[in-house]
Amino acid sequence: MLVYHLPGTFETREAHLDLLWEAGATGLEERAGLIRAYFDTRAELDDDIADGEWRDEVEQDWQAQFKATLRPVLAGRVTIVPPWLRHEVGAGQTALVIEPGMAFGTGHHATTRMAVEALSALDLGGRRVLDVGTGSGVLAIAAALLGAEHATGLDIDPLTIPIATENAEINGVPPGRVAFAEGSLGLGDDTDEVYDVLVANLYAELHDLLAGEYAAALRPGGPLILTGILTGKLALVRAALDREGFGDVTVREDGEWVLVTATAPAQ
Ligand code: SAM
Repeated sequence: MLVYHLPGTFETREAHLDLLWEAGATGLEERAGLIRAYFDTRAELDDDIADGEWRDEVEQDWQAQFKATLRPVLAGRVTIVPPWLRHEVGAGQTALVIEPGMAFGTGHHATTRMAVEALSALDLGGRRVLDVGTGSGVLAIAAALLGAEHATGLDIDPLTIPIATENAEINGVPPGRVAFAEGSLGLGDDTDEVYDVLVANLYAELHDLLAGEYAAALRPGGPLILTGILTGKLALVRAALDREGFGDVTVREDGEWVLVTATAPAQ
């Protein structure tokens, strides 16, 4: 694989990329201020980009390397795995298969893992669960696999919806038990539906804004699971939960990330 390495500056970057394309580059990549231009054969280069270096590199399959690093993630009664590690799920564990892809939520982030653990600690039998910011669908699918009667996943990013839907199919969750839709709470387009459990892996400022919506969307006493919160922002979330009358607040930390649980106020 023939690669031309060209150090660049912010000012010259655009012009250099144009010149490399014009010289016949088949692909361009930037890493740490260095432009890497892929060529089939050595090309005649404009003087402005002539101070780089041609290198013959061994082809690397970055995707294969990334896949090889993935390990099963234990989260309470659930083990989250990519499809090719399904056989590594231990006896008695519920397998949750997520195809690593474009949407956030492979299980490898501490927040996702803690949220699945918190769901796993509940008795979800017959419960209706709302997952706000569903991404790959991992939390809604976990809820369905843990026995929820129905799980709804909402996300403002429309690209996540087909991905989450496909992940539900991979896990054999029937369409009647899970639904994914573009949207959120508090956008004015949500229904007045009330859920038994609400889980949201977003970020502290958004939890602060949505705390009133969480209270309205949960049945009185219903469990709330919030994560995506950096330790330094915990006070903001605590204050929002106090303001909206949530009780039984618990906090769990994993490195710089926090998961908070609480119960919805009596209406
Ligand atoms: N639920 C998955 C998990 O736990 O791994 C994904 C969480 S990811 C950190 C946050 C997701 O929330 C993203 O997919 C993002 O598009 C979505 N999101 C961001 N703001 C949102 C909002 N206001 N309402 C709903 N979804 C939102």
